[in-house]
Amino acid sequence: MRSQPSAHPSAGRRVWRNWAGTATATPARWSRPRSEAEICAAVKDAAAAGLTVRALGSGHSFTAVAATSGVALDMSGWTGITAADTASGLVTARSGTTLRALNAELSGLGLAMANLGDIDAQTLAGALCTGTHGTGARLGGLATQVEALELVLADGSVVTCSASCRPELFAAARVGLGALGVISAVTLRCVPSFRLLADERPQSVDEVLEQFDELAAANDHFEFYWFPYGRQALVKRNNRLTGHDAVLGTPVPPALPAWRRFWEFEVTENVGFGALCRLGRARPRLIPALNRFSSAALSTRTYTDTSHRVFVTPRRVRFAESEYAVPRESLGQVITELRRAVPRLHDPVMFPVEVRVAAADDIWLSTGYGRESAYVAIHQYTGLPYQEYFDRFESIVAAVDGRPHWGKLHSLDSGRLRSLYPRFDEFRRVRAEVDPDGRFGNAYLTRILGRHDL
Ligand SMILES: Cc1cc2nc3c(=O)[nH]c(=O)nc-3n(C[C@H](O)[C@H](O)[C@H](O)COP(=O)(O)OP(=O)(O)OC[C@H]3O[C@@H](n4cnc5c(N)ncnc54)[C@H](O)[C@@H]3O)c2cc1C
Repeated sequence: MRSQPSAHPSAGRRVWRNWAGTATATPARWSRPRSEAEICAAVKDAAAAGLTVRALGSGHSFTAVAATSGVALDMSGWTGITAADTASGLVTARSGTTLRALNAELSGLGLAMANLGDIDAQTLAGALCTGTHGTGARLGGLATQVEALELVLADGSVVTCSASCRPELFAAARVGLGALGVISAVTLRCVPSFRLLADERPQSVDEVLEQFDELAAANDHFEFYWFPYGRQALVKRNNRLTGHDAVLGTPVPPALPAWRRFWEFEVTENVGFGALCRLGRARPRLIPALNRFSSAALSTRTYTDTSHRVFVTPRRVRFAESEYAVPRESLGQVITELRRAVPRLHDPVMFPVEVRVAAADDIWLSTGYGRESAYVAIHQYTGLPYQEYFDRFESIVAAVDGRPHWGKLHSLDSGRLRSLYPRFDEFRRVRAEVDPDGRFGNAYLTRILGRHDL
């Protein structure tokens, strides 16, 4: 599931392509560092050749945030945990470690990340750079779990930043878009391993919207999926099991047996849903009915499991996605307008809408900066038209000052983004200090951050 360099037959140069197929690039050079010294050398060599540099994660951003025509740094040879203190929970890992590998290693140490998104294919640095988040009204995105970062800067030097050491660089680099340097290592504050009680059940979307604040407050990790032609939402409530539950003998459901995990996560949610999507793509007029069928087929599931086995599910059906963080209190308005807009679209929508929540944080370019957020993610099956849908969605969230996920499709530029992020210009100032020549630039960064020399 890592980014997919492939041979380009005509040009003879390796092409980089993202997971969704929404971005491609032809780097002038590839480099696969296996040590911090090799990362520094690659950055210095790029400077000597007058080339820009982008570190690659797993290619799971839908935007061209990772794309480069300069040097592509494939970080897949720079992985693993290098230090762990099980008493404090502080763990340092190399930046190219995938979340999947990290979760497995942490589990072996009796530790876990406090919150995660839906998948674990991303690299640690790749996930942080775009502000990847999960759900939970009392928890921020993944970057809020970071205690310190080690960065290779544009001049090839290595710096560490944390709340007490270069705090401005730390406030910028935790969600740094790959614009400030190559992250070499990340120190995370982990928590002791925990189990989650997962409760997934259909509920009317009207009822979910009415109870939204209570549901967000009452559950550690609350989210819902809603097929936009249906009336039912699938509500997921994931709550932490404490030692108490075991001591008091509170009855909790067991983990799903392997056959059921396979049947539900792989066969139904990937193979079955993928077949419906292909049918919808071949016969678009059937899509609203297929969508209602998927909505009616939602069923109840309760189980317990290790945290990351509940947070993460396999996503094999490919799609395009846009996601915005909106002020929590605007969620009802956004969903109501989306509900009105979808049936009027020329091209029908095959995929569900996903709604999650997060606490406010203090990271300059985090979508959660300074406000409690609801995240609204819209998707369309790969190969089906999505532009009209995504444009309509953007006009709805614009009215409530929505902030786009940096790794998901959006059309905003620096002019608009400056008005959405109070620390936008401070981020640009720090960037100009640590990367005066725009060594880590690309076209996407020019669009969202403005020209480097301004
Ligand atoms: C199926 C799917 C499910 C998803 N689920 C979620 C979800 O639940 N929540 C959510 O918030 N997002 C989600 N995303 C989006 C995803 O988490 C982000 O786009 C993430 O940034 C992808 O990580 P990656 O490792 O693929 O990084 P890439 O997309 O490859 O790169 C992202 C950025 O990180 C930079 N980068 C990578 N490594 C380094 C480094 N060492 N130093 C400096 N910069 C670096 C790249 O240059 C680029 O700017 C999902 C995406 C997909 C395809």
